[in-house]
Amino acid sequence: MSKVLIIGGGIVGLSSAYYLHKKGYEVTVLDKGDVADNCSFGNAGMIVPSHFVPLAAPGMISQGIRWMFNSKSPFYVRPGLNLNLVNWGLKFVKHATSKHVEQSAEPLRDLSLLSKKLYEDLSKESGFNFELTNKGILAFYKTEKAGEEEAHLAEKANELGLDMAVLDAAACKALQPELELDVLGAVHYRCDAHLYPGKLMQDLLRYLEQNDVKIVRNKEVDRIESDLNRITKVFTGSDVWEADEYVLATGSWSPAVAKMVNLNISLMPGKGYSFMESEPKNRVTIPALLCEARVAITPMNGSIRYGGTMELDKINTRINMQRVKGIVQSVPKYFPDLKPDLPAEDKIWYGFRPSSPDGLPYIGRSAQKKNLIVATGHGMMGLSLGPATGLLVSQIIAEQPTEIKIDAFSIR
Ligand SMILES: Cc1cc2nc3c(=O)[nH]c(=O)nc-3n(C[C@H](O)[C@H](O)[C@H](O)COP(=O)(O)OP(=O)(O)OC[C@H]3O[C@@H](n4cnc5c(N)ncnc54)[C@H](O)[C@@H]3O)c2cc1C
Repeated sequence: MSKVLIIGGGIVGLSSAYYLHKKGYEVTVLDKGDVADNCSFGNAGMIVPSHFVPLAAPGMISQGIRWMFNSKSPFYVRPGLNLNLVNWGLKFVKHATSKHVEQSAEPLRDLSLLSKKLYEDLSKESGFNFELTNKGILAFYKTEKAGEEEAHLAEKANELGLDMAVLDAAACKALQPELELDVLGAVHYRCDAHLYPGKLMQDLLRYLEQNDVKIVRNKEVDRIESDLNRITKVFTGSDVWEADEYVLATGSWSPAVAKMVNLNISLMPGKGYSFMESEPKNRVTIPALLCEARVAITPMNGSIRYGGTMELDKINTRINMQRVKGIVQSVPKYFPDLKPDLPAEDKIWYGFRPSSPDGLPYIGRSAQKKNLIVATGHGMMGLSLGPATGLLVSQIIAEQPTEIKIDAFSIR
């Protein structure tokens, strides 16, 4: 049976390993870390068919500029001479149009719905217990302006066959009776779900290792050898790895790895923070998005996970406490009796969303290196889109018809 080497053990790499293993391939996953804390672990756990509008959308640029001048705002770009950022920014601007939003809606919806269905299937398999919960997400707003935007989103969603409902404050209270609310209303993204990402990753790793998929930790790919149109060898220091097919699933590090085969992938790491606080009263039963503050709140494993911010910068280990304060202070503005403490620095998790400039993932076979499949750039939706991406990767490698059309995700 053919051998596949997957570079990167995040949700995209592990999902690809899962479906390739099911098809009978001999699979090895290489990761530069110990696969215990990449971006796929500490995220908000939201499964979001509701997110059919890509990040590159009209209005994002002016909103982004306004946020830049507030140290506690949810968005930040480090100014400076970063050529990658400049190129990425130009592409982002080019795509922030209504036409792009229109063209992206159906491909994103189809990828998301496929993934949600695959999560439902996976949750029924023995050994998988990652708390998949189908209660939707409540997107709360405090201002008329955000309310109008959300109502417009709900209308579009319903046209696309996605279940969303506009709720006034009383209807919100009926859904979250234990929580004091100070909101105008919410849109209930009923089509969405949530899960516990750390548990999902552990379940996947256990399943793969018990089924003879090799997970090789702490091996960083630092060189790739290829002939004119095929990869021949991958190096991690002095170790050499050979396979028939290679999958590039290295999240925010993908541009550096792609460069090893002279492939340009436009991607910026979008750093975000999260922290957990125990919640014995169990007041939050449905995950929440705070629309104006761009904060995500997810009940998880008897606690609440708070997450947010998007910092476009080089990959770094700095924790910007002002941004975390921004998350903490925004919560009681919507829920007056929910007052998370500012966490100590060592309790704050951060991860890098692999953000493509058009807001769509890259999924497909490379035109230059015929045995290379690229699967990255899932931005704010990588957890949601992981299983569908993995299934598509396995179908591309097996040369089977893909479950959904993938032209919109082409790396070209
Ligand atoms: C605060 C926050 C909240 C989020 N909330 C959500 C959410 O609610 N829903 C959702 O769908 N998404 C969410 N996301 C986004 C989601 O977490 C990411 O899109 C997703 O985890 C990306 O997965 P990945 O597999 O592409 O990358 P990663 O999980 O980053 O995995 C990439 C792996 O590649 C490895 N690697 C890199 N370079 C090399 C190399 N040279 N050699 C070997 N290995 C290498 C890395 O070590 C890493 O393990 C959130 C993100 C953040 C930051």
